[in-house]
Amino acid sequence: MTSKRNLPFNYFVFYKTGLLCYGNQNPNVSIHSKSSELPFGFFIYFQLQLRIEEDHQMKLLKEEILSKGIVLSDGVLKVDSFLNHQINPILSLEMGKEFVKRFHSEDPNTKVLTIESSGIAPAFTTALELGVELVFARKKKSLTMNDNVYTADVYSFTKQETNTITVSKDFITESDRVLIIDDFLANGQAALGLAQIVEQAGGTVSGIGIVIEKSFQPGRQVLLDAGYKVESLARIESLKNNEVRFVDETVLV
Ligand code: 5GP
Repeated sequence: MTSKRNLPFNYFVFYKTGLLCYGNQNPNVSIHSKSSELPFGFFIYFQLQLRIEEDHQMKLLKEEILSKGIVLSDGVLKVDSFLNHQINPILSLEMGKEFVKRFHSEDPNTKVLTIESSGIAPAFTTALELGVELVFARKKKSLTMNDNVYTADVYSFTKQETNTITVSKDFITESDRVLIIDDFLANGQAALGLAQIVEQAGGTVSGIGIVIEKSFQPGRQVLLDAGYKVESLARIESLKNNEVRFVDETVLV
């Protein structure tokens, strides 16, 4: 039994333990506290637990974006030095692990699907971590492909043109549970096109994992409205004034 005299001390222990546990699970989240909040330590710990999923963004990825990303305009971020042209393999491996953690479920994913070319690195490490195969949709139909294909029209945000993306019917089937991965989320058209292909095959989309989400554009809402689970490793609130600002992830003030 806890005596009244010991209560403050016990709450203090709960509180510190809570922060410690939370910190261990979320090394990316900075936590601020005030001593006046100590009596609510236990309560806060459970609140924190509930918010882990939504607040967590990858620290290493954010650091790369801040140090190497180039803001081309209010709407476009260039990350050629680690994602879109040159690839950071360590970071890509971390992304794969993080996607697998976030999309963990009882029903195993049987395939990872992305679109060439920049989705391939994070999708590859995700597939490696899951122990399944990776399929990438082609933006232009290859000469070696026959007509046994699924297609979807995708309007490209960066190229401002419509591509018909193609996946062979041999590689996605109705028994597949497919995790879709892409590098960026802007208006959601690439991810929707990939999801359409899975659905044409009669398969199930288990979720959509995005490396960098531009949260000021409608893509996330478009995908949520279509009924898909969306997880983004970094969420950008704004690119205004040549500055990258992330969606706020501070949990306690
Ligand atoms: P969405 O289909 O969601 O409109 O756009 C996503 C696709 O456009 C991604 O596959 C990515 O290739 C490209 N994209 C969208 N916004 C950006 C951006 O700000 N920077 C880069 N590098 N690619 C982008």
